[in-house]
Amino acid sequence: MEKVSLYLSLGSNQGDREWNIETALSLLNIELKTPYKAVSSIHETEPWGFDSAAKFLNVAVLYELELPKGYNPEAEGLIILETCKEIERKLGRSSGPEYDKRGERVYHDRPIDIDILLFGDNIIDCEELTVPHKLMYERDFVMKPLSEIKL
Ligand code: ADP
Ligand code: MG
Repeated sequence: MEKVSLYLSLGSNQGDREWNIETALSLLNIELKTPYKAVSSIHETEPWGFDSAAKFLNVAVLYELELPKGYNPEAEGLIILETCKEIERKLGRSSGPEYDKRGERVYHDRPIDIDILLFGDNIIDCEELTVPHKLMYERDFVMKPLSEIKL
């Protein structure tokens, strides 16, 4: 087996934001079969990429996974992504990503968003999953919490 660091970003700007984040973390601990190793403080941030009066709460969290040596990064990454999406659905996140007429992403208020930032030193680029996360370095709401827990 080998230890692999998994960094996730969680955000909520709808409903009881703190409860959404705490509950998502508890569900992640169960689904990833290990308690998280580190979690950042909660950051309150302005919506990014869309207009909304509802500010976000954001955290970054670190899991140390035990995976078989020689595991397939893309296959494991997609399982983790599915786990994240399942928790988003449980917490009332409705639809998948939406696009406008020009093909630009349209963002909405959401009870919970869980993104995969880093997964060991794997580089994954398939249709459903890009790791490291494509926009993480441009987003303060990701990098500030991450900097609290990243060694
Ligand atoms: P966003 O996180 O950009 O607000 P969504 O949560 O709706 O938007 O995710 C849109 C899609 O992005 C997901 O369906 C997922 O397949 C894809 N995706 C690609 N890379 C990642 C990643 N690193 N973490 C999470 N989702 C990702
Ligand atoms: Mg997301």
